[in-house]
Amino acid sequence: MFGRRRAGSPSEKKSPAAPADDAPPAAVYSRPHFLHQSAGERSRILDRGVRPVLFLPRNQRLAWNTGYAEVINAGKSIYNEDQATCTPIILKRRVSNVEDWVLLCPSEDMQNDEIVATYWGLFDGHGGPMAAIQTSKHLHHCIKDQLEEIFDVISNPSSIPPPMHLEEHKGKARYAKEKNISIENVIKGAVEIAFKKCDELIAQYQALHNQMGGCTALVVLHLQGKFYVASAGDSRAIVVQKNKILPLSNEFTAFTERQRIQHLAFLKPELLGEEFTRFEFPRRVKRNDIGKKILYRDYFMSGWSYKTAEEDDLKYPLIHGEGRQTRVMGTIAVTRGFGDHQLMVYDTDLHIKPFLSCTPEVTVFDLGQHEFGQNDVLVMATDGLWDVMSNKDVEDAAEKFLEDQKHEPRRFTMLAQYLVLKARGIPQNIDWMLEDGSFASPDDISVFVIPLHNLGGTA
Ligand code: MG
Repeated sequence: MFGRRRAGSPSEKKSPAAPADDAPPAAVYSRPHFLHQSAGERSRILDRGVRPVLFLPRNQRLAWNTGYAEVINAGKSIYNEDQATCTPIILKRRVSNVEDWVLLCPSEDMQNDEIVATYWGLFDGHGGPMAAIQTSKHLHHCIKDQLEEIFDVISNPSSIPPPMHLEEHKGKARYAKEKNISIENVIKGAVEIAFKKCDELIAQYQALHNQMGGCTALVVLHLQGKFYVASAGDSRAIVVQKNKILPLSNEFTAFTERQRIQHLAFLKPELLGEEFTRFEFPRRVKRNDIGKKILYRDYFMSGWSYKTAEEDDLKYPLIHGEGRQTRVMGTIAVTRGFGDHQLMVYDTDLHIKPFLSCTPEVTVFDLGQHEFGQNDVLVMATDGLWDVMSNKDVEDAAEKFLEDQKHEPRRFTMLAQYLVLKARGIPQNIDWMLEDGSFASPDDISVFVIPLHNLGGTA
């Protein structure tokens, strides 16, 4: 998210709670550990006149030979508020589950005590870097914890549906009218619960250390031949495959989620106080509009209609702005993610968090349904890239670059670096400009490029 936000207002600030002796220490600002930056390099990247692109060091290798690059913003924050994580997740059967497992599965399946998944996460912070840092450190542990809860279900080598009860023998006859729930959907549920748990953790952490801010999250989890793509915010993942673009995620902003947010205001009007109206208008209603029929729309409408303007319509609209500049309560542009637990509308006692959601949309991409070539990749990036590059721009750049560099072993990190450089542009006077003369991205930009040809093997 890049844009106006009134975090840090006096109404947000509270006296810090005294941390308990066993409380986790406050996080310190850092970049992803796989960049292996020295202190000198860390200070150099804060130079806004240069905005050097950081990329995976030559001696460092990520899972699946993934490429990575990033650049700091042009001045909206003193820190790069994006964060990134790439790690294997080793799922183990819990000792307490062994008894259940004996009931569930034949003895030969007992040898399958471990499942290896791979996790990539991008987190775009706002109102400070700390929520993204905390999420980058904790979300994969929350996902591991939830997946291990259902280890026996997901390690089942057959395709039979998951049992209604974990204690249920898998050979037992099923109730004929029981819903047919797939294992995929149980994994999606585990990811959704993990996001909720992580947001609760961030809430505790922010209260304990008196820290503010929030972050979006985009996660790609590879598990048993499928990508589970969880999106809460406005980062984006696409597959680029032989002149084809396969979008894997949707963005959640005040613009795309207007109806959900207006509906909540309809159900709980007290969340608006005396400051806001839930109706959307093409512009702010003026006093001389009162009594006239004016265009508006409510939570149940995608189209527009007319209503007679009233005194209440003079209030500030809950959702206001155009396209990506649309804000909730005039404050925040993204509507899903972590943190923001103490975020309030400037100079009021109105909390914004009830309108935000940590629930991701999880899509499933079955790799077994596709054949991938040497240049096929999954590109995941924060909105700093997508603000100035379309899916087609990225596809064109990726296909040409990877073909030109087809003998270069580091070509996926080189592509990530190339995409970040294109979106960052070049400095001209006080602005950063693209090759075509339009404004480049002033936001933090982070890009993973995941090769798909060998599906986790050496590319
Ligand atoms: Mg951003």
